[in-house]
Amino acid sequence: MEGEGDRELSIEGLALDRGTRSTARFRAAELADGSWVEIAAMVVRGTSPGPVFYLGAAFHGDEIAGTQIVGRVASGIDPAELRGTLIAVPVQNPLAFQVQHRFFVGHMLKSPMDQNPADPWAAFPGDADGNTASIVAHTIFENLMRHADYMIDVHTPTTGGRYAPFAFLPPTRCGAAVNGAEALARAFGADYILANDKGMYVGDRNPHTVMGERGVPAFGIEIGEGGRIEGEEVATGVRGIANVLRKVGMLEGKVEQSGRNLVIRTMDVIRARRAGVLTLHVGLNDEVSPGRHVATITDPFDRPIEEIVSPRGGPVVRIATHPTVSTGERVVQLGVPR
Ligand SMILES: [Zn+2]
Repeated sequence: MEGEGDRELSIEGLALDRGTRSTARFRAAELADGSWVEIAAMVVRGTSPGPVFYLGAAFHGDEIAGTQIVGRVASGIDPAELRGTLIAVPVQNPLAFQVQHRFFVGHMLKSPMDQNPADPWAAFPGDADGNTASIVAHTIFENLMRHADYMIDVHTPTTGGRYAPFAFLPPTRCGAAVNGAEALARAFGADYILANDKGMYVGDRNPHTVMGERGVPAFGIEIGEGGRIEGEEVATGVRGIANVLRKVGMLEGKVEQSGRNLVIRTMDVIRARRAGVLTLHVGLNDEVSPGRHVATITDPFDRPIEEIVSPRGGPVVRIATHPTVSTGERVVQLGVPR
C-alpha cells in the first residue's frame, strides 16, 4: 500500500485535526464587480494516517452529476472510518457551473482573444500570471491537488450526448502511474477503460496527465449526462469511488467488482451526413456488427433522408441525445478494444 502522504499535509487556512471534516474556499480570480471566483473544498481528515486522495468534479459547468457524486462521497464519509485524507472539490470551474455550460461563456463572448486556454481542465498545472482558466487551474493545483497520492477527476458527458460509464487513463509515457490508474479504474468498475496516447482525453495539460507525470495514479471518469442528475448514475459513481478508496486502503472492506471494465484503445465516430431529426436504433453497450442500421435522420416533414449504417463493428460507447443533428455531428461512437 502506497503513501503515508497525509502526515506532512498542510493546507493554508485549515487546521487538519485528525478525525475532522472542514471546508475552505480559495480565492482564484477577481471579477469586475469586486466579487471573487472561489474554489470550495471539503477536507475529510481520517482518524488514522494514510494517503491523500484528491477527488474533483465539474471542470465543465454542465457536469452536475459529477458534482453530486463528489459532494455525496465527501459528506458521507465518517472521518472515524477513514485512513488518510480526502480532499473533495465538487465544482472545479465555478464560473462555468454558474451558467451550466461547458465553458464560462460570458468571458468568451466579452473577450474571446483572452480565453486561450478557455478550459481550466486543459490548463494544468496552471499559471498564477495567466488568464482566468490558468489561474483557476493554478489555484486548485497549488492549494489542493499537488498534495495527492491518488486522484479521480469526475466528468459527465457534455450536454447532448451520453457515454456508458468509462474511465480514461493518462498516456503511457506516465509509466507506472498508468498501471496504478488502471488498477484503480478497475476497482471503480466502469463499463470501459480508455487507454489511449492521442486525442482529447490525454492532453499534456489535463490534470490526470500532469499528476501521472508526477507518478501519481490518476484517472478521469465520464458518467451520466450533461445538464442532468440521475439517481442511478449518481449511486453508481458514489459506489465506484468507495471501491477505489477501499482499494487504496483508505476505507475498510473488500472491493465489490462491477462494470464490464473492457479496455478500449480508441472510439470510432459515426457522424451524420445529412441533417434533421435523429432517431437512434441502438443503445449504449449494444454490440454492433458491420452493416448494422444504427439511426435514421428525417427532414422536418418526417420524411427519412438518411439511414445511417455502421461501417464497423464494436460496442456502443456513446450516443447522441439531442433530438436534432446537423451534417458532421456525432451520432454514435463504437469502442475499439485494446
Ligand atoms: Zn468534462
